Amino acid sequence: MDLQQNVSLKSYNTLAIDVTAAHFLEIKCLNDLRAARDFCQQNNCPWLLLGGGSNLVLTANFDGLVMLMCMHQVTWPEDAEGLFTISAEAGYEWDALVSESVRRGASGLENLSLIPGQVGAAPIQNIGAYGVEVKQFLDRVQVFDFDSGDEFELSASACELGYRDSIFKRHSSWIVTQVELILGRGKPPQLNYGVVADTVTKLSGQPANNASPQLVRDAIIYIRRSKLPDPIHIPNVGSFFKNPVINAIQKQKLIKQWPGLVAYPMADNGFKLAAGWLIDQLGWKGFKQGGVGVHDQQALVLICSDTANGWEVLALAQRIQADVEKYFGVKLEVEPRLFDNRGEFKL
Ligand code: FAD
Ligand code: NAP
Repeated sequence: MDLQQNVSLKSYNTLAIDVTAAHFLEIKCLNDLRAARDFCQQNNCPWLLLGGGSNLVLTANFDGLVMLMCMHQVTWPEDAEGLFTISAEAGYEWDALVSESVRRGASGLENLSLIPGQVGAAPIQNIGAYGVEVKQFLDRVQVFDFDSGDEFELSASACELGYRDSIFKRHSSWIVTQVELILGRGKPPQLNYGVVADTVTKLSGQPANNASPQLVRDAIIYIRRSKLPDPIHIPNVGSFFKNPVINAIQKQKLIKQWPGLVAYPMADNGFKLAAGWLIDQLGWKGFKQGGVGVHDQQALVLICSDTANGWEVLALAQRIQADVEKYFGVKLEVEPRLFDNRGEFKL
């Protein structure tokens, strides 16, 4: 086991927070995970698994073992009907998978283009964007339970995938080691989300309804680049809060006060509020103080300088939460996962 000591995690998290890991290990195969588990048990040591580090906030030097997922084999078998059954190890880069699927002519993942991070993290919060979620294509996952050492398979339905949610948030010792996705060819593009169809037409000069996965991917990349900060230049973890869901009575009450309220009907009769809109109404967009701030194009994205620490980011998040609760009566839930010196905590 190639264990390193006192390793800076700055380049392993997209907020660029400079904390260290007491012990650090690259996980290149299942045997590395098994050995890491033995090490943690023998040394009574806390552990943390990092993928691309694009959905977490580190607030302190970590006193235990930080594992970087580096397993990245992928296979692309296609059957006679043009169905791809893609098996990708957890450490494969998500957007590389999307790009390759589009190159091979498979449809479905293009709306999920340019989401940072790894394949193994995709089911953890059931990544979603522009009207599509990974749930629509997931077939099964392989899991290693870091507490018990058990290795098992979960079907997609057993993963309990919901809106930015899954069973993995309730079983934090379960590590996804491999993901299986099923994609077809020639499926109609998913264009019902706001600007997507118009952007396809603008970029290609063609009507959007028959657009190829590649044209949709180009449009999504164009939209994202024009609106979302690239963590390489401006550290961030994407949306800092989940969109809150309210019931019809709450919605009626809020609309009287805020006639422009942005609320999308959900399948279960609830309404999803655009958290970014709520934050924007309270004047936070473009706010800056010290090393932290709110992005000037999207109020849901908190940004920081590369010398800020995790607590500064969380202090800003708490001020925004308090303000939104005061004016809208809605509690914003933090989306990224939060870690201190020994493990996960909640705000
Ligand atoms: P990490 O940040 O490394 O980990 C996140 C959590 O998952 C941690 O608790 C970690 O321990 C756990 N984890 C990671 N890998 C595994 C594994 N293999 N098994 C078990 N647990 C694991 N998200 C969206 O849903 N939609 C978007 O459109 C979107 N856009 C984004 C845009 C930007 C600019 C940024 C910075 C982030 C965005 N995100 C988006 C959030 C983030 O990219 C996703 O949640 C992504 O799936 C996180 O992957 P990761 O590998 O970076 O996970
Ligand atoms: P946006 O297009 O400005 O829309 C604002 C919000 O309204 C989004 O959060 C979205 O909910 C909701 N929305 C818009 N059109 C909708 C529709 N037709 N039906 C249902 N809901 C609709 O959002 P954005 O910030 O530019 O992000 C674009 C997409 O990328 C969104 O899907 C967003 O979730 C995703 N994204 C996610 C992250 C992350 O870290 N989680 C970061 C960046 C972008 P949904 O969020 O449920 O789609």
